[in-house]
Amino acid sequence: MTIWNLGSINADHVYSVPHIPTPGETLAATALSRGLGGKGANMSVAAARAGARVAHLGAVGADGGWMVERLRDHGVDCTHVQRRDGPSGHAIIAVDAQAENAITLWPGANRDIDLDAVKQALDRAVSGDLLVTQNETNSQVEAAALARARGLTVAYAAAPFEAGAVRAVLPHLDLLVLNEVEARQLSEALGTSVEDLPVPHVVVTLGAQGCDWIDTASGTRHHVDAPRVAAVDTTGAGDTFTGYLLAGLSEGLQMPEALTLASRAGALKVGRHARPMRFPRERRSSGRPSEVARGTNMQDFV
Ligand code: ATP
Repeated sequence: MTIWNLGSINADHVYSVPHIPTPGETLAATALSRGLGGKGANMSVAAARAGARVAHLGAVGADGGWMVERLRDHGVDCTHVQRRDGPSGHAIIAVDAQAENAITLWPGANRDIDLDAVKQALDRAVSGDLLVTQNETNSQVEAAALARARGLTVAYAAAPFEAGAVRAVLPHLDLLVLNEVEARQLSEALGTSVEDLPVPHVVVTLGAQGCDWIDTASGTRHHVDAPRVAAVDTTGAGDTFTGYLLAGLSEGLQMPEALTLASRAGALKVGRHARPMRFPRERRSSGRPSEVARGTNMQDFV
């Protein structure tokens, strides 16, 4: 079973600054780190690290070759990652000593994905495969509708949250994943509780409190506790959680087991500082085994 991920691929440029710049101010940063980011890429990496087969559908600009290589290093199939003429999606992130941040995001190639190429890629999908998408690319609704028609399970992570984007994709979904703030925003926008959404499975993540799974057909809500950890960096917990959840489902786990796996992965993620990502010039190409072979996989968690 393959996870097809129509998702963003971003270059994150993280600048350490004495304080967040005020309007009109020019400020010298004290450190710079650059790495692979974007909700889509994060989920692909997480699912691949969990041992799932992942094919990424997305796009990078002329400057994005190193990001594709980085995804490949993690075992993600990048055959269907498109190359565009303009810049890749990227984020300029200023972080001060109190961990306050200010982010400027340029979607770039992530919003310039060729739908025909996505359709051609999904022609290779088989019934039982899984499509996931988030709200950082174009063509989410078209891809979800096409995948559903081909018998794929369709999942959507409702971030960055936009009520209109969720409303448009809802009719095509089997699984909706959102955090509790997004769940509240969606309920307010649609005037309905998440229990009444027209989606078979809804997962609401609750940070350190774990998550709730709502099986809307039976109208039941199940809670899964998160392991207790000392949180040092919560960035990307949601993407890691969703990647592992989908990997678990694609490997045949039932929802409760897949949620337990995802919760453990999310807790591990927040309990560690993000590993510094290497930029291309520093990247080694020694042909060593990939992260998938060496890294945490499903067996470590289940
Ligand atoms: P982010 O936007 O920071 O990536 P999110 O808001 O989408 O995160 P969260 O609900 O914060 O998602 O976290 C996702 C999952 O990760 C939680 O359901 C939980 O299983 C795990 N998790 C997050 N924070 C903690 C924590 N402090 N301790 C243990 N587990 C956590």
